[in-house]
Amino acid sequence: MITEKTDCDKHKWIPLLGINKGRNVPTALFTCLKCGDLKVGTETIKISRFRLDMGDLPIKSVSTIGIKEPLASDHTASGIIVSMTAGENLVFGDFVYFKSDGKCWKADANVAGAYPCMGMAIATINVNTAGDILLHGTARDDTWNWITVGGVVYLSIVAGEATQTQPSTTNDAVQVLGIATNADRIYFNPSKDYITRA
Ligand SMILES: [Zn+2]
Repeated sequence: MITEKTDCDKHKWIPLLGINKGRNVPTALFTCLKCGDLKVGTETIKISRFRLDMGDLPIKSVSTIGIKEPLASDHTASGIIVSMTAGENLVFGDFVYFKSDGKCWKADANVAGAYPCMGMAIATINVNTAGDILLHGTARDDTWNWITVGGVVYLSIVAGEATQTQPSTTNDAVQVLGIATNADRIYFNPSKDYITRA
């Protein structure tokens, strides 16, 4: 999971000093005496050992963005995430679709309306609370056991699960969710296209 330190109850900001004309002067860069957070200006960019928080500022002129692969430990993910509300209790690795009630529910290839899958829960998210949903990236779950590394992973006919065997019954949805990068890892990039079995 994403390790993010909780802020102090109340930061104690002090400006870092620079030298101007032989004298120490405060700069626009601050650090918290208690937690070590850094910020630039007024609450805009915050930097700590655990995160870079841009607030709502855009990131521009980035040449590459590195997504982690391989992932070093169980129940971790790397990529683009969004905070969304769960329609039912979810756990790490549940593949979800976005329902008309505006919430994430376990996707299911043999339940009409319960697909396409659009994300994967990367935390335990209780019903009607918001949590992290992976939209595109890499993930590791040591309970996965993909048979064919390098092979396609499909939405399963078991709610919230994925499979490397295409659903084959009439009306089942066939949706590609990604590629197995290891027996326990996946490159997750769910297709918005799917077919239903004739
Ligand atoms: Zn602090």
